[in-house]
Amino acid sequence: MIVSKFGGTSVGSYEAMSRSANIIADNPQRSWVVISATSGTTNDLLRLSSLGSNTAEEKKILEQISQRHLDIASQCSFKKEATKAVEECMRTLLAHLSKQQSSKQQSSNNQSETEWIDSLLAFGEDFSTQLFAWVLREKNLDVQLEWAGDFICTDSRFGSAAVDLEATYAKVRHFLTTNEGFGSDQKPGKVLLTQGFIGADVQGRTTTLGRGGSDYSAALFAEALGAECLEIWTDVAGVYTTDPRVVSTAHAIDEISFDEAAELSIFGGKVLHPATMKPVRRANIPVRVASSIEPELPGTNIVTAPLNRPVVRALSVRKEQTLMTLHSLEMLHQPGFLAKVFSILSEHRISVDLVTTSEVSVSLTLDTAHKASNKVELSEAVLRALNDFCDVEVEYNLALVAVIGNAMNQTSGISGQLFSTLKDYNIRLVCHGASANNVCFLVQESDAEAVVQTLHQSFIG
Ligand code: ADP
Ligand code: ASP
Ligand code: MG
Repeated sequence: MIVSKFGGTSVGSYEAMSRSANIIADNPQRSWVVISATSGTTNDLLRLSSLGSNTAEEKKILEQISQRHLDIASQCSFKKEATKAVEECMRTLLAHLSKQQSSKQQSSNNQSETEWIDSLLAFGEDFSTQLFAWVLREKNLDVQLEWAGDFICTDSRFGSAAVDLEATYAKVRHFLTTNEGFGSDQKPGKVLLTQGFIGADVQGRTTTLGRGGSDYSAALFAEALGAECLEIWTDVAGVYTTDPRVVSTAHAIDEISFDEAAELSIFGGKVLHPATMKPVRRANIPVRVASSIEPELPGTNIVTAPLNRPVVRALSVRKEQTLMTLHSLEMLHQPGFLAKVFSILSEHRISVDLVTTSEVSVSLTLDTAHKASNKVELSEAVLRALNDFCDVEVEYNLALVAVIGNAMNQTSGISGQLFSTLKDYNIRLVCHGASANNVCFLVQESDAEAVVQTLHQSFIG
């Protein structure tokens, strides 16, 4: 069995859906399909969540969502059924929006704002799966559409829920044993279609796994099913040496290790959600990243042990990063200073990325990116708690650049080449040595793209 995930642009129009459906029809092993919302829809829904009702902007966005999906439905051979599905989704979406509005007015809001937003965002995947089911039927596939919340069990951290693996895997196994034609007795042409990004907590409330989370959903299904392969179909022909939108000479990598791909995604390579590698690495399931627009291109294979292991493989960048520097003379030869800092950060659920220390100061980087799944909020409370025993300085608008590869902490010359290549830029902080797979540093956000272009030219060519 192959688990195939199609991203937003791969289902963003009727042509895109039809191309993706052909890919599924081409290989009967592609029997478990996970899809995202049509491109732009999750952003539209997020925008709706912050608008008042009956505003001109709300009307415009709702019209846009409706039109995008009705357009797809109108080109499908099952036009009547697909249009009915879109209209029904639209009706439920409107009811969801007005429910929140009326509960706000009556101040009887039992549902928290974050819980309501997750249910709102889930409409994106609901629209796309409803439509895609009809496009798959057009290709004579026998589609069974299942709600992802009935499989993916999570905690109740809305917006960035953590998955309960055992419960999730039990649900997938139960499905296989109670539904004929899937799994070991797979019937050719039978396809299970479900949403990425969505889960449900123990009370059955809809949760989401963080922006871009459909890749992670697909990896969880691949592990639960013991799939032969996980395919990530997207709008570029694989994992590139860096974002091809930033560096035009970036090229697709033939083969890359799980470790390198994990680092690349964690440090900002948007092509894969940062958690995607966890389940597939655990279960040793190879991943193929390929373009749904040009499926004949080889794409990238992500495996445990690639044949070629260059020192520098790829570059990634994460913007909107924050640097916090703590100074205290008390730190000099005093045990427990760092423990105190980290315990305060942990109490406030702040996760730290990079750390460098000197005798009397410590610098930490925090992921404050707007779209980060575990976005850090530097509250007044945490700053006050730290200020009680040290001076705190905070710098914003930085970018974290990561050079990703192999045996980087055992190869001479990497730092030398890095510093000489970037001699015209201010490198605010460097982390080298902790990981064999990366060297990371901070630069001004406004320099980030030029830095990546210069490094790509020097290290990758
Ligand atoms: P999908 O909707 O299919 O999930 P995404 O937009 O989430 O697609 O991810 C694909 C995009 O990731 C590409 O269009 C590309 O601009 C960006 N990207 C960033 N870094 C990389 C990289 N190293 N390799 C390929 N794509 C990358
Ligand atoms: N639709 C969701 C998002 O835009 C999930 C995904 O695309 O993976 O974040
Ligand atoms: Mg994505």
